[in-house]
Amino acid sequence: MQESKIWLSSPHMGGDEIKFVQQAFDENWISPVGPHIAAFENELAAYNKVEHCAALSSGTAAIHLALIILDVKRGDEVICSSFTFSGSCNPVAYTGATPVFVDSERETWNMDPDLLEEAIADRKKKAGKIPKAIILVHLYGMPAKIEKLIKVAQKHGIPVIEDAAEALGSEFKNQRLGTFGDFGIYSFNGNKIITTSGGGALVSKNQAWIQRARFLATQARDAAPHYEHSQIGYNYRLSNICAGIGRGQLHYLDERIKQRRSVYETYRKAAAHRFHFPSEPDGHFSNRWLTTILVDPDKNNGIDREALRLKLESKNIECRPLWKPMHLQPVFRGAPAYRTGVSESLFESGLCLPSGSNLSTSDLDRVIDSLGVA
Ligand SMILES: *Cc1c(COP(=O)(O)O)cnc(C)c1O
Repeated sequence: MQESKIWLSSPHMGGDEIKFVQQAFDENWISPVGPHIAAFENELAAYNKVEHCAALSSGTAAIHLALIILDVKRGDEVICSSFTFSGSCNPVAYTGATPVFVDSERETWNMDPDLLEEAIADRKKKAGKIPKAIILVHLYGMPAKIEKLIKVAQKHGIPVIEDAAEALGSEFKNQRLGTFGDFGIYSFNGNKIITTSGGGALVSKNQAWIQRARFLATQARDAAPHYEHSQIGYNYRLSNICAGIGRGQLHYLDERIKQRRSVYETYRKAAAHRFHFPSEPDGHFSNRWLTTILVDPDKNNGIDREALRLKLESKNIECRPLWKPMHLQPVFRGAPAYRTGVSESLFESGLCLPSGSNLSTSDLDRVIDSLGVA
């Protein structure tokens, strides 16, 4: 008989979520408005120690609104991390702008600050203008070299959107990720460290920007008793029910980070002699959203990443290759790309292991057993 499925990263409810949802039902706030939304925004802002927060329908929507507020338009260029999930750069295409991809450095696997500097200089030369914004990602929860990246951006006066979709609760020098850039975004999709079943948030120090995000997210309705519109709006608000789930989930966020870090440690202790596990550089604190390994066939009797993935899959264990770089995606063919080769080699040899905070000891034993490291 097939053993039960072990998922890569599945939702993990703590118990308080249903109380907030029940409250929404009891008070009949079953709509995109309601008291949980503002409460969730305030609680999330307090957790991250950031001034202002808008709760939205997804992380992708949050990035889209940030770009609109930064006035990114057709003909503009926006620099993006190439090593990421498509949700972080698709919104550039929604605005009609062109993404310009910048590759990763070896240590954190995130955007290379030196290459960012080169890319900006080259865009000046080739496109005759500097990029309108930079979207930089903290992948798998690992903080990017954020200080250096922000310094480069500031030198050229380019605003930064920090994609912390995978990095809620991660820190650089004791400051939460998502709070370094002009904007930060979070995702509460079903596979993230906490979930609202689907949702996201946009944060900033700039109150006017966040107010504008809420306005745009609710169809850009002008002040009038009837429906009056002078701008194009979007239906991007988080519902009151989902915000209720989020309020409950926030109660457990610190515990979930501990659990995910402990999953990483368990794998590392069992398998560091066979696979490469990325470590945290000084000052970097990762929520370890997903445990990632690099598979070197020379150290594993010729078994490469794909052979290992198929082996785990045959044992009903869900694993996934690392993100395929955006500059290799057919849909972004033709977009300018500045490469180091790092993301391509990570995609070749990298694997995400089951990393949910709800994995049992026996689940972890089963994965370790299947890795064949004993
Ligand atoms: C999940 C994710 C997003 C998008 O978030 P959604 O809420 O799914 O729209 C963006 N960037 C990264 C890096 C992500 O992992």
